Amino acid sequence: MKNVYLDNNATTMIAPEVIEAMLPFFKDLWGNPSSMHYFGGQTGKHISTAREKVAALIGAEPSEIVFTSCGTESNNMAIRGSVEATGSQTKVITSRVEHPAVLGPCQQLKNKGHALTEIGVNSSGQLNMADLRQELTGEPTMVSLMWANNETGVISPIDEIAALVKEFGGIMHTDAVQAVGKLRIDVKKTPVDLLSLSGHKLHAPKGIGALYVRKGTRLNPFLIGGHQEGGRRGGTENVPYIIGLGVACDLAAKNMDKEIKNVAKLRDKLENKLLATCPNTSVNGDRANRLPNTTNISFQFIEGEAILYHLSDIGIAASSGSACTSGALEPSHVIRAMGVPFTAAHGSIRFSLSRYNTTEEINYVIEKMPAIVKKLRAISPFV
Ligand code: PLP
Repeated sequence: MKNVYLDNNATTMIAPEVIEAMLPFFKDLWGNPSSMHYFGGQTGKHISTAREKVAALIGAEPSEIVFTSCGTESNNMAIRGSVEATGSQTKVITSRVEHPAVLGPCQQLKNKGHALTEIGVNSSGQLNMADLRQELTGEPTMVSLMWANNETGVISPIDEIAALVKEFGGIMHTDAVQAVGKLRIDVKKTPVDLLSLSGHKLHAPKGIGALYVRKGTRLNPFLIGGHQEGGRRGGTENVPYIIGLGVACDLAAKNMDKEIKNVAKLRDKLENKLLATCPNTSVNGDRANRLPNTTNISFQFIEGEAILYHLSDIGIAASSGSACTSGALEPSHVIRAMGVPFTAAHGSIRFSLSRYNTTEEINYVIEKMPAIVKKLRAISPFV
């Protein structure tokens, strides 16, 4: 069996159609889109088309899309830029299960004197809505809450959250890096002001992202320089990657319904079989409100990293949320925030699928996993 890639929430394979579309922009169409002459015009019009495609995937206007270098930049720009634009008294609300690209800038704002609240989640990974309601008081506030969690796939009730934040006059940012391309998103219906997305999570290359900025949202630019991106982000555009992102968004939009169904079917097969064949396993996160491609399973009494090494040896790529802190493996902040018991938290593995996974690949993982679990349990100090 060739390698089986089940780590698509970390990054995705670049779609062949995306690579094809990008190539001319490395070879022939290399003009600076800001130039007035023929060479600039040649690339400029393709950027406009890409912007339309990105906008279409999330129901936005093309003028509301700012190209960035990645999801991390989009999050930083949204959080720091909107808070800076509204003043030093602006309060910041986020959650305990956000990606570091949200937690980091929020913490930085706290260090600069802004009040910061991190809302907790329940054991299914769902935000404590009562706590959010209590924090919304009508004073200047910026709320940053993710659309879907990268580790568990848990989807937030973002329509309800955004409506609530807007009712209290707050600014609403969502990190939708894991949601865009995997779920239908329509910012005409979901009242977010700012939304981050990243190319490499939806089969475009690494190094390109976008920030949706609803018309009228006040945002201080992060990169100050030229007049690119309507003055919202200086710097000559990364033309080939922008083109790639446009094509990736177009592919996602066209195939979404079919892909959601296919990927969820494979994910469910994998999950159900592993739960049935490996004793002492449980799913982390709200199984009813999850990304179609993600399952996070705890294999109790064993170390997640040990499972990953064994899987890697036989060509299977997955991930664990553990991070090495002072020489010891610590479960991820997401799993800890959900209150998953120690013996399960340490053995949590994320399998994240994509349109390129096949039934044969899933069958291979299903076939190999029970023996790995049995072997590691036999030598586990926790059993
Ligand atoms: N937000 C979430 C939820 C993510 O999963 C990631 C990447 O893993 C990011 C932000 C950062 O995106 P990028 O890698 O494009 O900087």
